[in-house]
Amino acid sequence: MVEKLLKQLINAQSTLECGELNTAEVLKYFLEQHDISAEIDVWDENRANITATIKGDGSGEALFFACHSDVVPAGDAKWQSPPFQADERDGRIYGRGSCDMKGGLVAVAVAAAMLKNSGIKFKGDLIICSTAGEETDGCGAKRFVSKYKDTLPRLAGIIIPEPTDFKIVNFHRGICWLKITTKGKTAHGSVPHLGINAIASMTALLNKLDCYKFPDVKTSFPDSSTMSINQISGGQATNVVPDSCVIKIDIRMAAGVTCERVVDDINEICAELKSQTPDFDAELEIIRTVPTLQTDSACEFVKRIYNIANINETHSINFSTDGPYFKELNAPVIVFGPGKPELAHQPDEYIDVIDLDNAVEVYMKIIEDFVV
Ligand SMILES: [Zn+2]
Repeated sequence: MVEKLLKQLINAQSTLECGELNTAEVLKYFLEQHDISAEIDVWDENRANITATIKGDGSGEALFFACHSDVVPAGDAKWQSPPFQADERDGRIYGRGSCDMKGGLVAVAVAAAMLKNSGIKFKGDLIICSTAGEETDGCGAKRFVSKYKDTLPRLAGIIIPEPTDFKIVNFHRGICWLKITTKGKTAHGSVPHLGINAIASMTALLNKLDCYKFPDVKTSFPDSSTMSINQISGGQATNVVPDSCVIKIDIRMAAGVTCERVVDDINEICAELKSQTPDFDAELEIIRTVPTLQTDSACEFVKRIYNIANINETHSINFSTDGPYFKELNAPVIVFGPGKPELAHQPDEYIDVIDLDNAVEVYMKIIEDFVV
């Protein structure tokens, strides 16, 4: 059951270009075959969230699994088998999204279907959503939260089945993506003193950013903040003084560091440069922010998962998730799922079938413990 559904979901391509509706429809069909009601929320023609619920009798708290349906593009590297045609070989299922995170999504759906089929009575609601746009702007998670936050039952906790190789993750850094444009004035390249060179302004800024120290906030969470300038463009011709230069920066924030704080610091650096060189002119734009995920590893929810999964420690991950958006639902959030995180976004992405089976088993145990 689990392999078949995963293959169908991989084949239902759900890159940003295709949208998530294909994937949501495959999932809805599967869930309804197992008598689990599912609602698809569609916008912009092909963008879609899907939310499935098994109603409890109301005598217990609800449990919420937050998945995502979208995948990143296949990339330019050559795959051994077509990325959007699932291929099973050597005990693995290959295809884009197999690991990140249609594998985890399938495991949750199958666990729910098996419990539903068994005729067992649910005390609390089991809610499974699979959102759009996790890999780009978190649009699906934000939409889900604003739509349901006032009507959801009380949640015992939230599990994100992203690939963590079955490690319980309670922390990841936040994201702050910035675009900075320096502005100048064009002139002929032979008379540069008549213009203002935007690349020279950017050079001054880059030198300052190179020495930037993130605020040192002491918390119990590991990891440090990083800044990586990953795109730059400017100038039109060898003999024209450039009037614009643009950089894009990927900042990852440790616990206690906020995007607002970093933006304030960079604006201050720009103000200082302007006070030294009046021709300096820069504009900063925030492209994307995701707060840090920080769940107390000593909370009841995590302790209960420890017991069920026979694990006794939490970890952090390098990548980010939709988790911070779900904090508004006022329940502890952990990331816990099958698949090796280093395979995500890679060519020849795969998941081991044994990991899928183990995920179904552990999710069934978790669901039984919390809502049955
Ligand atoms: Zn993911």
